[in-house]
Amino acid sequence: MLNFSVGPVMMEQDILKIGSEQIPYFRTEQFSNLMIENEMLMNKCVKASESARVIFLTASGTAAMEATIMNLFDKSDKLLIVNGGTFGTRFKEICDIHGFLSEEICLDHGEILTNQHLESYENNNFTGFLINMHETSTGVLYDMELVSGFCKRNNLMLVVDAISSFLADRYDMSEYNVNATILSSQKAIALPPGMSFVVLDGKAQERVLRNNVKSLYFNFKNYLLDGLRGQTPYTPAVSILLQLRERLRKIDSIGVDRTVEEVARIAQDFRTKIKGLPLMITSSSLSNAVTPLKPIGKVPADEIFKYLKDHCQIYVCPNGGSLSKVLFRVGHIGALTEDDNSELVNALIDMNKKGLL
Ligand SMILES: *Cc1c(COP(=O)(O)O)cnc(C)c1O
Repeated sequence: MLNFSVGPVMMEQDILKIGSEQIPYFRTEQFSNLMIENEMLMNKCVKASESARVIFLTASGTAAMEATIMNLFDKSDKLLIVNGGTFGTRFKEICDIHGFLSEEICLDHGEILTNQHLESYENNNFTGFLINMHETSTGVLYDMELVSGFCKRNNLMLVVDAISSFLADRYDMSEYNVNATILSSQKAIALPPGMSFVVLDGKAQERVLRNNVKSLYFNFKNYLLDGLRGQTPYTPAVSILLQLRERLRKIDSIGVDRTVEEVARIAQDFRTKIKGLPLMITSSSLSNAVTPLKPIGKVPADEIFKYLKDHCQIYVCPNGGSLSKVLFRVGHIGALTEDDNSELVNALIDMNKKGLL
């Protein structure tokens, strides 16, 4: 089986092995030390400030998005959301459910965010800015320098969902003045799904402490407090946190920049190999994490996904909703090699010969 989806992704053998072992009890000094190391290494990977803290949440990325909004804002805030697809829409849905005022900058599928979009929102009464650095559903990577400058000028709390771009694209929480970075275990961190991580800078932590969150499980205050001694308020996905330390140690030893370069190399290799096939790359601002492809032949995208799954044991990533027949995506994150790319491309070449592309 080969998995080119954007999560869960292929995992390294040593990481799989940790997942197959018995789970130790976790209210211990050993586990606390492991968590303190996880927090330190995670902060280093996102290039957070000295005072940054990490919330370890046993929940999928969407829960981390929702919890972050609940903890950093309230009904006195007004939020600006970049909505270029499924994940931007998700931010909007969360704000609506919680009754938080928000406005969207709606982008067409594949459209990039420019200064023109932001201009009319300068010197407005917004207090926060929500963006998915990489809109995974359409494969568009946003310009973080542009966003960072806008938020700085307008004094906005900047929340970045970097779930699908972290470790695939350059990211610097301090340089971009990001207040909260949201991450999830099943994307380029290449662990099983189940854990998400929210890195909070000093300003975001202050807000957490004075917010009045109507939730027990998702109240970050308890996580901040217990995290000081390397613990979480409730039972975490212990195995994933053991696996996380291995991953973070490895990333730290290679260097986060080189880790990103590796993903870039795999992405470039795939994009070179598919030249000549009737597949069009639909984003002009690509992340290294994913290549969004539009089949220009007669076969709909979802049929291509099904054929690869059923006949080749290869998963690519289908699109949902209105894009299901138009677009599919090939991920480059996780334990993938150039040989894996060749296997997928050979399958596509074969399908093309058979008129199935
Ligand atoms: C995958 C992803 C998420 C998280 O989705 P879950 O299924 O809840 O883990 C959130 N935002 C982006 C941009 C993603 O790619």
